[in-house]
Parts: sequence; C-alpha cells; structure tokens
Amino acid sequence: MNSSTSLPSPCSSSSCGMRLFQQLSPLYAPYWQDLSKRLTASPFRSRFRLKGKDARILPKKGNDRILLETEQILTQRIADAFPFKDGRQTPMRGYPIFIAQHACGICCRSCLEKWHHIPKGRPLTRAEIEKLSWCITAWIEEHSSFEEEKGEFYTPELF
Ligand SMILES: [Zn+2]
Repeated sequence: MNSSTSLPSPCSSSSCGMRLFQQLSPLYAPYWQDLSKRLTASPFRSRFRLKGKDARILPKKGNDRILLETEQILTQRIADAFPFKDGRQTPMRGYPIFIAQHACGICCRSCLEKWHHIPKGRPLTRAEIEKLSWCITAWIEEHSSFEEEKGEFYTPELF
C-alpha cells in the first residue's frame, strides 16, 4: 500500500488520536482538546469505553463514514429546537456513536447546554452539528482498537 504524501502515515497505536485532527481540520482541534480535558475530569463522562466490535467500527468504516453517520444521528435526534423525547433520545448502548454522545455530553439538549453552552429551545446550526460530529468522531478514534490492523503486520509468537 502506498502512503500518501499529503496525509500522515497510518498509526497503529490504539492510543493515537492524531489522524483525524491532522486530516480533517485544525479548526476544531483546540475546541476538542479543551473539551477532552473537561470530560476526563468528569467521573461520569470519563467512564465510557468502546468494547469488542464497537472498538473496531472506526478502523473498519473509516473516519469519513463515522463522521457522516454522526451528523445524520445528531440531525435526526438532537438538532431540533425541541427534540422528540429529549433527555431519553440517546440509548446507553447498542451503537458506538450513542456511547460517544454520552461520553462527550452530546446526548440531549440539557447536556449540550451544560457541556457545550448551546442554549435549549433553538435548532442547532449547521456549523454546530459539524463541530459536535467532529468531536464525537475524534472520541471514537481515541477509544478505538486497531488490533486487527496489527494482526496483519505482526507475526504471532508460535512458541
Ligand atoms: Zn444528556
């Protein structure tokens, strides 16, 4: 596989969250870094993890696909001025994007107000949806497992 000259080389470390930042935009990186620090300080938000196949969805589908799906989910469930079943529209399990929404304080309009200072009672702007989707994708990338990628490159010890 040829590595592109314009993109950073793939990183196989599960703790590396830099690919998305570097590829997509420096625009949201400062916001994400600040948010990430605040989330880490919250016992509730920081306990969320991706397990099993949830941790491999991003390596499998790719950043762009996850970003797109996240934008669709936010548009459908949270972007309205008064979302349907607000406060209960985001399941606690079942899909990695839902888990990331809870982890990032992007699960309902009360959490958006508290964590992202977006007032209730008005629709989200296109720019807000993009920024929040980017944060969720960044979180998923940071919590992803790239083990399967490694498996293709490393020969396991036989003895
Ligand atoms: Zn919430």
